[in-house]
Amino acid sequence: MKRGEGGAAADTAGRQRRCRGTQREAILEGERMNTTQASPATRTVKALGLCSGGLDSILSALVLRDQGIAVTWVSFETPFFSADKARAAAAAHDIPLLVRDITPRYLEMMKAPPAGFGKNMNPCMDCHSLMFHVAGEMMESEGYDFLFSGEVMGQRPMSQNRSALRYVEKHSQHDGRILRPLSAKCLPPTPMEESGLVDRERLLDLSGRTRKPQMALAEKYGVKDYPSPAGGCLLTDKGYSQRLCDLFDHQETYTPRELHLLKHGRHLRLTPAVKIAVGRTQAENTELATLVDADRDLVLKVMGVPGPTVVIPNGGDEAAVLLAASICAGYSKASNEEPAQVQVASGSDHRLVTVLPLPPAKAKRYLI
Ligand code: SF4
Repeated sequence: MKRGEGGAAADTAGRQRRCRGTQREAILEGERMNTTQASPATRTVKALGLCSGGLDSILSALVLRDQGIAVTWVSFETPFFSADKARAAAAAHDIPLLVRDITPRYLEMMKAPPAGFGKNMNPCMDCHSLMFHVAGEMMESEGYDFLFSGEVMGQRPMSQNRSALRYVEKHSQHDGRILRPLSAKCLPPTPMEESGLVDRERLLDLSGRTRKPQMALAEKYGVKDYPSPAGGCLLTDKGYSQRLCDLFDHQETYTPRELHLLKHGRHLRLTPAVKIAVGRTQAENTELATLVDADRDLVLKVMGVPGPTVVIPNGGDEAAVLLAASICAGYSKASNEEPAQVQVASGSDHRLVTVLPLPPAKAKRYLI
């Protein structure tokens, strides 16, 4: 739809008229933020949104799509969170999805997030800033008009209050280019609304912790399957955060593989330089085995009886290996009263060590 069509009038503040329509078109002139050059060409407005795959992300995209804006999602991956839920949402709602792995930049940010951490190792405000920062780079290079997200003011007291939303926008380095369609009417108008690129009247005024308005909107848009708002980020998990903290405290550098290892099994620190991961179930044993680096790690198994897979990431000295073998035997079905044989494998090399099992009650002091 072109400027002047559709019957909407300029409001008293003299804003440009807002466009409506299912296939929204806008006139470039005066509408393209950061662009001073006028162009008479018409085109479809394109928005790039952050997507977690949750209901708020979905609704924010549908609200914009409802007014004819071409929405695309971007979802980010690190060892702490994946784009799987976003993939499901994109498939369910037929919204194009871009997935980017931002692990190196994320780990750099994690060293000292300016706004600090939440209850656990979650640097939510700087995490959002970084995501918008990267999305903004994509916006610039791929020709999107603005960014959006499903954030709702006051939904999360610490990371989605008014000042947190402002912090995120400012630190994303894309100030004035971020729209929160679900809470837009509770926030000052953005340049996108002021210029008429987006119809503010068709945005929402959701705020607070209640989910009822989102439920009603889900009904309206026929959104049936969506994940619960909680979960999905390991940095909010207490156990994972403790293990991550321990890793940060003991290593200058760490690989994505080491961060994935923290997801599985019990973790015990034997010395400042050596820690182990002990599988608690057959599934965890399998997961640990898939993450082993045959050139660097040692893998321990008790001989002759069922027991855990124990991984020593990056190996360890002999005293640490023998202690790990005792712990491995202690968590196995071997008798705690008799010596047990434990296989220590390094790639295709293996040897046997004989140790007295260390009962779990005594191994507890090493638990991270
Ligand atoms: S919960 Fe995790 S993914 Fe979400 S903002 Fe916080 S740190 Fe980032």
